[in-house]
Amino acid sequence: MIHRRGGLMFLTADPEDILEGKITDVYFERALKILKAKNINPVVKAEFIAKSLPDDWPWALLTGTGEAMELMKHLKVKVRAMREGSVFYSYEPVMEIEGRYQDFCVYETALLGLICQASGVSTQAARMKKLAGERLVMSFGARRMHPILAPMIERNAYVGGCDGVSVVKSGEVIGEDPMGTMPHALILCMGSTVEAIKAYDEVLDPKLKRVALIDTFLDEKFEVLNVAGALGERLFAVRFDTPGSRRGNFYRILEEARWELELRRLGHVKFFVSGGINEEDIPLLNPVVHGYGIGTSISNAPVIDFAMDIVEIDGKPLAKRGKWSGSKRVLVCLRCRKRKIVPSNGADKTACSCGGMFSDVLIPVLDNGRYLIEQEIPTRIREAVLQSVKELSL
Ligand SMILES: [Zn+2]
Repeated sequence: MIHRRGGLMFLTADPEDILEGKITDVYFERALKILKAKNINPVVKAEFIAKSLPDDWPWALLTGTGEAMELMKHLKVKVRAMREGSVFYSYEPVMEIEGRYQDFCVYETALLGLICQASGVSTQAARMKKLAGERLVMSFGARRMHPILAPMIERNAYVGGCDGVSVVKSGEVIGEDPMGTMPHALILCMGSTVEAIKAYDEVLDPKLKRVALIDTFLDEKFEVLNVAGALGERLFAVRFDTPGSRRGNFYRILEEARWELELRRLGHVKFFVSGGINEEDIPLLNPVVHGYGIGTSISNAPVIDFAMDIVEIDGKPLAKRGKWSGSKRVLVCLRCRKRKIVPSNGADKTACSCGGMFSDVLIPVLDNGRYLIEQEIPTRIREAVLQSVKELSL
């Protein structure tokens, strides 16, 4: 649907279009027409799995389930799923939907879209936060994506581990104040980096940390001393957004600026970096950096290629070639963390070889419009993610 508001056009769907099944690949609509004409409507179980993960990621996070449930609560289906923010591995079903096929077939496109992108963003954020450790990781990449997606992208960046988001609306969605420093435009308009940080200090709420951008006009080493001299103790940090054409050895620039600050007893000034930061940069820069503004790497994270596959028709295991048929349980040992996939109808013996007990990761979440678990707030999901990612390697 094309929106026309005040003469503007946005090429985006309405939430109603999604709920009405209009965001569907047409072949599902055609399949539905045929099944109706032939009066075929089996009870189907279909699972969502990723047979592989992007960039050889050993694990990934499942996010977007809240939005998927927002859609599925309107359908006559039962759903089992992993909790929002769960770590999962390739070949593990992360969600299973059960219902009459005609009731949900046109929603496959939308359901996959809701979890594939969200999970990619949160996983990428989790990886970068893990690499950065205690250092701040801020989501700065909304500008690389369609603005209608900004809250979705930044919410998933946040639950994956980012410490903050830059877009005002995204802050509302996650329930935290947005984070940011100053744009080059402010410095260009004012004609001086020092004047810009002085005005920032004068005009803005004292509770906001004073962070100066220092790559606009002069060499970073001299500009960092200029702004630190101007604000003294009140200067919290400086941001290096050094353009690629001037970067040379970024680590050495940061190291040199640190040396000059320490020499003048201005060592309290922290260093933030931004501009095309990717996973490989973080371990290299960690020794001289206190915070990262991450743009495209997170907002344009690889999507996770979940597929929705039928595994059971009218109670009988049936799946296409290359897929394991039958409804499944995903179990984790509460002591040694070993995981296994077992048939749903198998024996209920749930003791691990280590002596620990297995627990179900895939749990009932929705029954014909009724939620069976509570939806957690983003801050809680993020805390649980940080905890569970701690013990994993990249
Ligand atoms: Zn065990």
